Amino acid sequence: MLGFTTRQPGEFNLNYSVARAPRRVARNRRRLLRALGGRWQFVTLKQRHTDTIQVLRKNSRRNGVGRARRERDGAVKLTGDALITDRPGLLLAVQVADCLPILLFDAEKRVVAAVHAGWRGTAKRIAEKAVGRMRAEFGSNPKKLRAVIGPGIHGCCYEVGRDVVEAFDGQFPYAPKLFRRIKPAPPDMHWQQRLFSPEPPQPGERRPRPGVTAAERAEKFYLDLVEANRRQLLAAGLRTANVAASPLCTACRTDLLFSHRAEQGQTGRMMGWIGIAVMQTNSKKPRKADPSTHPPSPGKGGLAQGDKLSLVTKPRLDKLGVKPGARVAVLGVEEKAFARELRKRTRDVTQGRAKKSSDLIFLAAESPAGLKRLRTLQRALKPNGALWVVWPKGRPALKESQIIAAGIAAGLIDNKVVSFSKTHSALRLVIPLARR
Ligand SMILES: [Zn+2]
Repeated sequence: MLGFTTRQPGEFNLNYSVARAPRRVARNRRRLLRALGGRWQFVTLKQRHTDTIQVLRKNSRRNGVGRARRERDGAVKLTGDALITDRPGLLLAVQVADCLPILLFDAEKRVVAAVHAGWRGTAKRIAEKAVGRMRAEFGSNPKKLRAVIGPGIHGCCYEVGRDVVEAFDGQFPYAPKLFRRIKPAPPDMHWQQRLFSPEPPQPGERRPRPGVTAAERAEKFYLDLVEANRRQLLAAGLRTANVAASPLCTACRTDLLFSHRAEQGQTGRMMGWIGIAVMQTNSKKPRKADPSTHPPSPGKGGLAQGDKLSLVTKPRLDKLGVKPGARVAVLGVEEKAFARELRKRTRDVTQGRAKKSSDLIFLAAESPAGLKRLRTLQRALKPNGALWVVWPKGRPALKESQIIAAGIAAGLIDNKVVSFSKTHSALRLVIPLARR
């Protein structure tokens, strides 16, 4: 599971150190965990703009969780700017308000990572190094890795000093491509520049008020942090199609996102989070756990040492969250067996269209064009409903990363992928908490 929070609802700050009311932070974190369902142990970072990576291994006593400092809600807090784990039940979180949250996952080796990348971490190649660690410690194949770059400050707004330009120049051969330079114009040119501004303001964007200051006459540099990190991920071996990035700029969208820069430091922190869900087994637990094979839960925030991955397959409708009596819409999913299974569980099934207040919508898609309906379809969903995209396995016409990107573009977040059938996969998209 992975996702990004926004500042909504009600200034949804998730960081204690910038909070005026820590209780609200604890409450917001509880709300987030509840929304995710299941048992999760939060792992956060004391972020230092370094390239320090903390690796939490499933099969290691020295995984750092037991002895680590705790936040007031029991979250494990380590120091550094990236977290990697193969351990189910850990929810890795980075906290941001302009810096980029970068989430990485390896579905094959079941390894996830969360990276905090501001300009300093980026200059230290933290994203590239995180991929390197996944490779070295877990044998991840970068070609199989997927990355999602969450909302952060974009090149439209991220004005930086000459020191930053120089730090990148010395590091990256492609550095000139990462900066937009605004050359100083002669004073009499200024009114023209303003009239023929190359970029129309985005909705909600704050532009400086007219009036030419000395600072404005100096040469300016704007850093494209997203592109810088995208290049690092590609350099580390990821495929272009497996790197998705949010189009949202924090400084442009202070209505939706926290921006340290746009709000002069007086703001909250959002989270980018990722974790491997602990799968529930269907088999009954033995009455008395044998302590030699099942070490008792140490009671650390509900994280048991005995967390095991299950190979027991649940009935498909359970995996897909179809509850008895649910209102379900099926759009283009042709499989007859699926229709039969659905009818056994609920009578409220429509084919080819979605009724208002649907619990679940199944949308078949074979190409990106089939995802154009996401934006309008979500209006038929209940706030806590889910839209499953069902797509053919192993065909290049539509990739999982494209569905995730289309979801993000439609304002939806993905939080689960399951095997729908031998021939099809299904990815769940939901409305972000902030909009429910
Ligand atoms: Zn912007």
